[in-house]
Amino acid sequence: MAKRIAILGSTGSIGESALKVVSSFNGDFKVAALTTQTSIHKLENQIKKFKPEMVGVVDEKAFAQFSASHGNNGLKIFSGVESLEKVATADNIDLVLSGVVGAVGLKALLAALKMGRTVALANKESLIMAGSLVRETAKKYGATLLPVDSEHSAMFQCIQGQAGNPIHKIILTASGGPFYKYKGNLANVTVEKALAHPNWVMGKKITIDSATLMNKGLEAIEAHYLFDVPLDKIQIVIHRQSIIHSAVEFEDASIIAQLSHPDMCLPIQYAMTYPDRKPCPIKRLDFAAMKRLDFAEPDFSRFPCLKLALSAGKEGGTAPCVLSAANEIAVYAFMDKKIKFTDIPRIVGHVLEKHKTIKKPGLEEILLADAWARKEAKKLC
Ligand code: MG
Repeated sequence: MAKRIAILGSTGSIGESALKVVSSFNGDFKVAALTTQTSIHKLENQIKKFKPEMVGVVDEKAFAQFSASHGNNGLKIFSGVESLEKVATADNIDLVLSGVVGAVGLKALLAALKMGRTVALANKESLIMAGSLVRETAKKYGATLLPVDSEHSAMFQCIQGQAGNPIHKIILTASGGPFYKYKGNLANVTVEKALAHPNWVMGKKITIDSATLMNKGLEAIEAHYLFDVPLDKIQIVIHRQSIIHSAVEFEDASIIAQLSHPDMCLPIQYAMTYPDRKPCPIKRLDFAAMKRLDFAEPDFSRFPCLKLALSAGKEGGTAPCVLSAANEIAVYAFMDKKIKFTDIPRIVGHVLEKHKTIKKPGLEEILLADAWARKEAKKLC
């Protein structure tokens, strides 16, 4: 029987790759639902090709435009942020894949987990803003979270078959982004340069996060919540080639790592076919041709976002939520050319400093902290 899948954010980078996986497995998956923020033309094409039963358009203006051109032809159409939740909790869904960007995905994630569903999660901001709540909800309702982020997919693959063996340490690898070797003044780098990632093809927000190294800090927090490992047992290592996607060290000093050419197709496919491994159309690694793999310590002083993220992660409670919300605002302001690249950590740092952390927040408190941080960050932009 085909696995019935709901894809939140189907027109984004992760969603499009997931649909490629669907196409490559003739009949293993049935696309039941798709959602987009604003990209209704892409959505139209996806509807023609994959024939979902329901779709969501989050942006109200885009929804009005979309529904006007869509008659009553049996397709269920939802609008607004609620559409994500409606799709994630619809009947007969075997797998929810959340590829939306930002805090907008949190409620849908929690709702799906409350139904005990399996969620393939690429939307890291949701996990970062409400890590403890997400983890507890998954546990309470027997839901399964499958990481889609390449590093976390790697860690997850490394711990398969290791039930009962505690993780001693996680080695989280980082490409270093486009400015790792940049000698000039980071205050003057352009949006276009920041968007030119050396190894990975990704969405815009995450590509800027990779350039500031905020992405790696967010990923450390993500690993902390996904695998219940304290932040001081997560080591970030620069690995320019992006071949080792991360590694896990066990009590006996053995380290298990996961390697492949950098291509999001693989971690997305693994989350979709888990626990099975199926052929994937990516280039295979040749050790002899590769010759070497290089590693280095990250530069914390040049990339202050990394330190900000790690200290917010250690603080816990609402601190990671505030970090991520302020960062979202600052990153979009940078892409709109309203602030400089180096203003991103400055703004995030200011907002964090002003915030009084709530240690064990519920959903209400998390949403309030998120809204507060966005407002404060906007004032500084
Ligand atoms: Mg990643």
